[in-house]
Amino acid sequence: MAQIGRFWFLSIAVVFHFIYIYSIFSIYFVSPIVHGMREHGVDTQEAPAQRLVLFVGDGLRADKAFQSFPDPTPLDETSEDAKSPRPLAPFLRSRVLSHGTFGVSHTRVPTESRPGHVALIAGLYEDVSAVMTGWKLNPVNFDSVFNRSRHTWSWGSPDILPMFEQGAVPGRVDADTYDPEFEDFSKDGFHLDTWVFDRVKKLFKDAKTNVTLDSELRKDKNVFFLHLLGLDTTGHAHRPYSKQYLHNIKVVDQGVQEITGLIEDFYSDGKTAFIFTADHGMSDWGSHGDGHPDNTRTPLIAWGSGVAPPIVNNSGTANGHEDGFSSDWGLDHIQRHDVSQADVAALMAYLAGLDFPTNSVGELPLSYLATDTKSKAEALLENAKEILEMYHVKEDMKKSTELYYKPFPGLGDETHSVEYRIARIQEAIDQGRVEDAIKQSNTLIQIGLQGLRYLQTYDWLFLRTLVTAGYIGWIVFAITTVIDLHVLKEESQTLRTVSSMVVFSSVLVGVYSVLFMQQSPLIYYAYALFPVMFWEEIWARRPALFKGCKVLLRDVSSKADVIKLVLSVAGCFGLLEALVQSYFQREIFTICYLLATTWPAFYGKEFVEKNLVLVFTWVLSCMLMSTFTLLPANKIEDLSLILSGGVLMFAVGVLYLLFEKRILVDADASEDELSCPSADGLSRIILGTQVGLIALAMIVTKSSIWHLQTRTGLPRGTQLVGWFTLVASLLVPFLHSLRPNGHYLHRLVIIFLQFAPSFIILTISYEGLFYFAFCLCLFSWIQLEHHVHKHTSQASRPSSRSSIPLRPTIASATERRASLKEGEYRALTLADGRIALFFFFFLQSAFFSTGNIASVSSFSLDAVSRLIPVFDPFSQGALLILKIMVPFAVMSANFGILNRRLGVAPSALFMVVMAIGDVMTLNFFYMVKDEGSWLDIGTTISHFVIASLLGVFVAGLELTSELFIGGVEIKIEGSRKSERQTGAQQNGTVTGNSNGRIH
Ligand SMILES: [Zn+2]
Repeated sequence: MAQIGRFWFLSIAVVFHFIYIYSIFSIYFVSPIVHGMREHGVDTQEAPAQRLVLFVGDGLRADKAFQSFPDPTPLDETSEDAKSPRPLAPFLRSRVLSHGTFGVSHTRVPTESRPGHVALIAGLYEDVSAVMTGWKLNPVNFDSVFNRSRHTWSWGSPDILPMFEQGAVPGRVDADTYDPEFEDFSKDGFHLDTWVFDRVKKLFKDAKTNVTLDSELRKDKNVFFLHLLGLDTTGHAHRPYSKQYLHNIKVVDQGVQEITGLIEDFYSDGKTAFIFTADHGMSDWGSHGDGHPDNTRTPLIAWGSGVAPPIVNNSGTANGHEDGFSSDWGLDHIQRHDVSQADVAALMAYLAGLDFPTNSVGELPLSYLATDTKSKAEALLENAKEILEMYHVKEDMKKSTELYYKPFPGLGDETHSVEYRIARIQEAIDQGRVEDAIKQSNTLIQIGLQGLRYLQTYDWLFLRTLVTAGYIGWIVFAITTVIDLHVLKEESQTLRTVSSMVVFSSVLVGVYSVLFMQQSPLIYYAYALFPVMFWEEIWARRPALFKGCKVLLRDVSSKADVIKLVLSVAGCFGLLEALVQSYFQREIFTICYLLATTWPAFYGKEFVEKNLVLVFTWVLSCMLMSTFTLLPANKIEDLSLILSGGVLMFAVGVLYLLFEKRILVDADASEDELSCPSADGLSRIILGTQVGLIALAMIVTKSSIWHLQTRTGLPRGTQLVGWFTLVASLLVPFLHSLRPNGHYLHRLVIIFLQFAPSFIILTISYEGLFYFAFCLCLFSWIQLEHHVHKHTSQASRPSSRSSIPLRPTIASATERRASLKEGEYRALTLADGRIALFFFFFLQSAFFSTGNIASVSSFSLDAVSRLIPVFDPFSQGALLILKIMVPFAVMSANFGILNRRLGVAPSALFMVVMAIGDVMTLNFFYMVKDEGSWLDIGTTISHFVIASLLGVFVAGLELTSELFIGGVEIKIEGSRKSERQTGAQQNGTVTGNSNGRIH
């Protein structure tokens, strides 16, 4: 059914993949936030504190807060005293030693500022659907400790404060923020913290003259929140071992001391509670986001009114230090009380006498409370009621839409019901069995959290079944289309009978009525549509499918052939499985590249001898490529590596300029291909400019690295030249349209030079070398493929047939020649599956050779700050994406040229890639974890999204390749038909003109 041509196929591919990626949002990214809960707070006792002060040291990891270091900024550098290690936060340490309670607060992933603050202040783990709004807005407003307060004053970053202000009752939360420009990456970050401290001091100073403010401040249930972003900024810029980061800790400690003193003096009632913590930690290389322990462990120190004093063990190591993490803090004798991050919200609400935030899943950490056991039991029971209230509301919502609701077993029947359990706990408290009551409350909280999880995952089985049917349907559908279009190349009839149509449509109607009755979201209807549509189409086109298989397997007759076929199919799935594993272990690419060096040998000694230089280049480039995945994904800025990569690119440009004519003529002579190298002056000037831009890129990068490393601030001039180089390098190649040159080698060199400067400016260490090696590898690959194609075509002449080892390949090559005579493009054969697989391998390799895409934090912002020194996640992200995309642009150009040189239809190989790619997607879909830590779930989800995006991406690559290689002339052997462009289209450069045939 050739009516479904290339255009339709691509459109269906894109629509299908985007809709099915969205299934992740329907399954996993559903907001856990609900509304309509009654409030619960502890009202049987007097509030432990009249007010609460919360300090958040953004990006302060736990160990750095407590370890000892030599003074990073001593008054006298030479004195002995300056070199001896000391705690950098003496005030906070004194709170731990003699005033309050401390521990490690364990965060969840993503370890970013927004989710961290949501957990701390609202007690819920980030509503993951917030990723959809770029973490700028609240997808659903949520309750928070601030919203429960009488009034909250907050100071800090414009990225954090507004979300609590907006979610709260209007006027309840005051947010005083600095301008976004103030967060300049190239300046010292601690200014952000002194700004906050100064503002707090000003508020209390103003209160001395402002009577209204004074009386506001003196009311109970007030909260003060100091968001200290300096450490995060300094950590990103200098990493957490730097003097700057350590100095910033000193600044924060001193500020906390001053503010504590100021507030104690202002009220002089001793009724203020203080909490110091962090939203997330910081990795050794100055990033955060993933689940590395350095990112998830933050300090928690509480002191003041209502907080328990330290439990000191004078005869050995106190409890809580069992994991050894805190062994070098010098705090072994003080008991350590670890909490989960959301527990801090419950703790704050309790201390200030507020109701628990209604969306909170935090559990009150009883060891932090300075009160008797009975009060603790009462408080924990209220905490449990608050969490179970959420369960109630959610269960009612589910019950009202579900056709047949199956209740959560833990809370289902009479003796397990929430009411029964709460009554039992109350009874225990009344009868004085308080320890028992605490135990029961803890159990109830755990069951409540499990119940919430149960409701959150209620629809998973149904949705997953739909999605699986959809993906398998897509793969088979894609293969059927490829067979139709590029193997059979004829109008094959479709077999649609009334009964088959009735069956498929009644399945659809059945599923839709269930969806309708359950008031499912509209998108669910789309999930259900695709599987039915694909399978109906496959069913109707089954004659073509059978016929195509027969054609493809026509030459597989002997037993040996069958064994070879089975082995190749197994090898194919083996490689796909290896690629799946490579998401977890980058080293797999090293093994694959080393194995790939042997590939030319499969075509016999004669072939290797004939193409010795090419085989050598292939082996060399594979060896080079094999090294990158052994290097760490988290790179440290290295100027010499950047420059050596630049020098190699520069050398390629210069060599080509010097020997352009010879290279092009040589290529022609040896390859028997048509092209007239017209190396005239203008064309050479443009090429020269491109090479010059590479040199400029190296100079400007060197200069900006110097400025950034010495903290002198990035000069405007350097930044502008950097931008100019980047933009010019991308635009100048368009001038080649003035002097078109259709030679494919010429085009590849232009494209190589086009992206070289971006890969210098945006490089941190070895990526420039990777770009060089990757381009070399791709180039030798397409040359080799072409020679293999020629080799097998020649070898297929009857005389030499028996002496060649790979008979199926040869047989298929015979077919290629046959089909070349029939039409303009040859039909696909089984051997082309291997080419598609190689392409797919390179596609993955381009992602993983320089980073680990699954962990975004491995893409450091260092490189981007050369162009955008101010923190601006979206522009910086866009530049990072440009850097990640460049290898793919080069790849698509190479593959497009290969496609033409092999004489297959423009889209044929891309379509095969799209079909096999989703084998991986489905693999990842089943690896998505529905239990375990959020880290596991998050990682597996991102793997799935990446894998399924690759499908869309390949469709995009096909279009890109059309853009890049438009106007390239290649004479297909045997077809006597060169793919010449008309004069208007023959502009020799990157243009929007597609010369692909759209059926
Ligand atoms: Zn940060």
